[in-house]
Amino acid sequence: MSTPETGGSLPVVAILGRPNVGKSSLFNRLVGRRIAIVDDTPGVTRDRKEAETMIAGRDVMLVDTAGLEEAAPETLFGRMRASSEAALEMADVAIFVVDVRAGITAADRAFANWLRRARRPVILVANKAEGRGGASAAMEAYELGLGDPIAVSAEHGEGIGTLMDEIAEHLPAPLKDDAQDDANRPLRLAILGRPNAGKSTLLNTLIGEERMITGPEPGLTRDAIASEFEDEVGRIRVVDTAGMRKRARITHRLEEMSVAASINALREAEVVVLVLDALLGLEEQDIRIARLAEREGRAVVIALNKWDAVEDRAAARGRISDTLETSLNQLRGIEVVTMSAATGAGVDKLMPAVRRTHERWNRRIGTGALNRWFEHMLEKHQPPLVDGRRLKLRYATMPKARPPTIVIFGTRAEQVPLEYQRYLLNGFRTEFDMPGVPIRLQLRGTE
Ligand code: GDP
Ligand code: GDP
Repeated sequence: MSTPETGGSLPVVAILGRPNVGKSSLFNRLVGRRIAIVDDTPGVTRDRKEAETMIAGRDVMLVDTAGLEEAAPETLFGRMRASSEAALEMADVAIFVVDVRAGITAADRAFANWLRRARRPVILVANKAEGRGGASAAMEAYELGLGDPIAVSAEHGEGIGTLMDEIAEHLPAPLKDDAQDDANRPLRLAILGRPNAGKSTLLNTLIGEERMITGPEPGLTRDAIASEFEDEVGRIRVVDTAGMRKRARITHRLEEMSVAASINALREAEVVVLVLDALLGLEEQDIRIARLAEREGRAVVIALNKWDAVEDRAAARGRISDTLETSLNQLRGIEVVTMSAATGAGVDKLMPAVRRTHERWNRRIGTGALNRWFEHMLEKHQPPLVDGRRLKLRYATMPKARPPTIVIFGTRAEQVPLEYQRYLLNGFRTEFDMPGVPIRLQLRGTE
C-alpha cells in the first residue's frame, strides 16, 4: 500500500485523531527524536510529518497528520476526515489517538465510525493515560468499537512498548527478499545495567570476538554496534544500547544516562538481561531498570556478574533474593544466573535462561485451562464485597501474549480491589509457571 513518495516498500503507519490529543507527541515518541513541533495551541503543527523509524525490529514509515485539521472548512469531523483521508489511503496500519483526559467526544465517535469502514487495521490508542487511574480511564475508549484501547502516555513515555508490539502485529508480512520464518527471526535481547557492571564484557564473551571496547571507566562503550550471535536454538540480536547511551549523554548526567538509554533499548527488546555487579548487589538504579522493563512488558533475566570476585557467595545470593522479594514483586521468581563475564564461567547458563523466559513471555494459555484455573481461584477465595455487594466474576480470556495478558469479565469487574487482583496475578504466575515475566490483568465490567 506504500507509495514511492513514502519510502518505497516500507510499511506505512499513520497517526490520526482530533487536534490536541497528542499525535505529534506520540510521533516523536515512536521516532525517538523530536521532529514535530509540539504546542498547546490546537493545530500548531502544520505539515504532514513523515519519518522512518524502527518498530519491533521492522523499518516503517511513520506519518503524523497533526495540523492538517485546518485544511478544509466544515465541521471538526469534516476537517479531520479530509486531512486523514490521504494518510489513511496510503497507510498499512492506522493509529487512532484519543485523549482520555478530555474524554471521548462526538468527533471521536464519528471518526471511529468512519475508520471502521476503512478496511485497514486500526489501533486505538488512549493517550494521556499516565500514572494511577490511567489504565481504567482508558477503558472508556472501548465504547468506540475499535477493540481494546492501548493506554499510553506519549508525554511520559508509558505504554509505548506495548503499542509498538501491537503495531508490529498488524504490519504486513515482509517482502520475499527479507521474509523470515518466525522460527528464524532472531530473539531481540537488550543487555542493560549500571555502568561498569560488565555489559560489554558479557557481550564480547557471548559474541566471541572483541567487538566492543571495554575498560574500567564507566560509560566507555562508544560505538553503536548491532550485534548478532547464535546459540543452540537460533539467532539472537542484541539491541544496541551503546549508540543510545551516546545520544542520552547529551542531555543526562552519567548516572542517569544508562537509565535513559535503557528506556529506548527496552522498547526494541523482547528479553532484557539485567547485568549486576555481584560485589555491589541490586541497587536503586537496577531496580529502576527492572521496573521499567516490567512497565514496558518485557521479560527479564538477571545476570549476577563478577561472581569470581565474590567471597561469600551464599550471603551475596541471599541479599539479592531479599531485595528481589521486597522490591520487584512484579517479576516474581525471576531467573538469576551467576556468572563471570570476564572468565566466561557460568555464561553458558545465560542463554538457556533467556530462552526459557522468552518462551514463557510468548506462551498462550488456552481458554479451557485458563478458566479451570480461574474457577479454582474463585472457589479458594471468593471475590470480596464492594459496597456491601459481592462482585461476580464470570470468566477469563487471554487475548494475547508478549507479555501475557489476561482479561477477566464480570459484573462490576472493574471494581475488583488491588489486593484481589494481586491474588489472581500471583495465582496465574504460579499455575502457569511464568517467573520473570510481566503479566497484564484487565478487568471488564459486563451487564
Ligand atoms: P496533536 O495536536 O494531536 O499533535 O497533539 P500534541 O502532540 O501537539 O499535544 C497536544 C497537547 O497535549 C500538548 O500540550 C502536549 O504536551 C499534551 N500531551 C501530549 N501527550 C500527552 C500525555 O501523554 N499526557 C499529557 N498529560 N499531556 C499530553
Ligand atoms: P559496562 O560498563 O557495563 O559495559 O562494563 P565493562 O564490560 O566495561 O566492565 C567494567 C569492568 O568490570 C572492566 O574492568 C571489566 O574487566 C570488569 N569485569 C567485567 N566482568 C567481570 C567479571 O566477570 N569479573 C570481574 N572480576 N571483573 C569483571
